[in-house]
Amino acid sequence: MIPYGRQHITQQDIDAVTEVLQSDFLTQGPVVPAFEQRLCKLTGATYAVAASNATSALHLACLALEVGPGSRVWTSPISFVASANCALYCGAIIDFVDVEPDSGNMSVIALEKKLQHAEENNQLPQVLIPVHLAGQSCNMQYIYQLSVRYGFRIIEDASHAVGASYQNSAVGSCQYSDITVFSFHPVKIITTAEGGMALTNQAVLAEKMQLLRSHGITRADELMTEPSHGSWYYQQLQLGFNYRMTELQAALGLSQSERLSEIIKKRQLLVASYQQLLAGLPLELPSVPKDRICAFHLYIVRLADKTQRKAVFDKLRSAGIGVNVHYIPIHSQPYYQAQGFRWGTYPMAEQFYETIISLPLYPELTLEQQSYIAEQLRLALA
Ligand SMILES: *Cc1c(COP(=O)(O)O)cnc(C)c1O
Repeated sequence: MIPYGRQHITQQDIDAVTEVLQSDFLTQGPVVPAFEQRLCKLTGATYAVAASNATSALHLACLALEVGPGSRVWTSPISFVASANCALYCGAIIDFVDVEPDSGNMSVIALEKKLQHAEENNQLPQVLIPVHLAGQSCNMQYIYQLSVRYGFRIIEDASHAVGASYQNSAVGSCQYSDITVFSFHPVKIITTAEGGMALTNQAVLAEKMQLLRSHGITRADELMTEPSHGSWYYQQLQLGFNYRMTELQAALGLSQSERLSEIIKKRQLLVASYQQLLAGLPLELPSVPKDRICAFHLYIVRLADKTQRKAVFDKLRSAGIGVNVHYIPIHSQPYYQAQGFRWGTYPMAEQFYETIISLPLYPELTLEQQSYIAEQLRLALA
């Protein structure tokens, strides 16, 4: 089966991990901060906090922005469940903003309407989590303007978008947000096996996330409530978690990050081939606005005739092509339905869901495989 996404591991990656295995530290050593520094350099953000995965990084980000019981958090229904779950971990009230019909990203029109309505009802959100679907940035400048007007904070779920850019600045720079979160799951752009990172330009937020990442414990004298008892001393100031990234993970990520621009270029080449191979089929292909560079974590096509989706999907799977669907709307999940969400509430998201198929896209995909995929897709649509 040709998978929809797959990690790309080089000998250099293997050597980097092996070196850590033979070193003094498997966790809490020098490589995690080096990886954090690398991400700061790549994005222009001032602070980076590595975490065990993007889900824990999103949780830390919510906590740093003081999301708690009763807080309102809004995100996109077209995302992985973690984008919403992170708010529920904090006891918050989650809600969704409908998406643009073409990109599947949060619609600023729907957002503005929902904000106006929420203001009238005194139910404005405290935090908004836009998701850069497939690696394409949302309309962050507009979202930021709305945040100033309505007074909410912003966490970018950029799990798909390491290496992407928006208005000539890297996604992760937090130009229009408080915190940006990346995922390093193996199907994402670069991997640490499991891993995530929260970036911010605000020292207070970075400190809070660092503290909560490791049990709420500090060894910094200036944060302690009384003078240190000695060099063994630490204090637990809050109820934190063990959300740390290991040295092994960081070594893999650091090594992978050296190839980031190469990986993005390769993905863009593969996308260009798909666009040619699939032209003329009854599909809507992804298109990227001029002010953005898409990292292309996913290649999502939309079928002109949604009644064909299931049959086309099944035919491709039986032809050995590991197509997928990104995403099943979060509000349709049984857990969310049990919280009162209903089908029909976010029509654009639901329509998007019904028409989409993600085709395989990863650095080692070959042109021959792409031609095979295109041919099978043509047959399936015929
Ligand atoms: C993958 C993903 C996550 C979760 O990432 P993990 O590193 O697996 O925790 C969150 N949000 C989105 C949009 C994702 O695609």
